[in-house]
Amino acid sequence: MAFKLPELGYAYDALEPNIDARTMEIHHTKHHNGYTTKLNAAIEGTDLEGKSIEEILKGLDMSNTGVRNNGGGYWNHCLFWENINPNDRGRLSGELLDAVNDAFGSKEDMMDQFSKAAATRFGSGWAWLCVHEGGKLDICSTPNQDNPLMPGVGCGGTPILGLDVWEHAYYLNYQNRRPDYIGAFWKIVNWNDIEAKYAAAK
Ligand code: MN
Repeated sequence: MAFKLPELGYAYDALEPNIDARTMEIHHTKHHNGYTTKLNAAIEGTDLEGKSIEEILKGLDMSNTGVRNNGGGYWNHCLFWENINPNDRGRLSGELLDAVNDAFGSKEDMMDQFSKAAATRFGSGWAWLCVHEGGKLDICSTPNQDNPLMPGVGCGGTPILGLDVWEHAYYLNYQNRRPDYIGAFWKIVNWNDIEAKYAAAK
């Protein structure tokens, strides 16, 4: 069964003014849709067909650039749209807050480290907050559409929060001001979603 572009579950203008509607629409209908279509083409007729996207990425032959780039692009954006869902954002609390304090000292220190990973990623890529077995958190970044599920990439573990720092994610509104975009991202993070992902992954 082919992978499908997920519905966002919210309007393109729901993240204004932090992410503008035009950027969201192009990002979803062009970029994410493109990764989805090309992923399906790349796995069609291969033994990857019928596997879950997580299975595909965890067992990936990294020289398979079609699946690496488009499978990564597919999965990364699915996570990202959920991470910034504007409905019922909640706040950082409970066992996720405890894990953040254990790993980084405080919420602010975690945000600083994540923001630095996002700001210093040269060219295109992603910043990640990942959970490892036992619930320990760490932060890393990856180039292009790679992600920590892939063998030998980034910090490993399961990403529960991802930030897209490709220029297509922010250039219309922020031009070269990536740090401003990163600052805006923190205003739209859905902590309830991240907490649910933490509970599922730890
Ligand atoms: Mn993107």
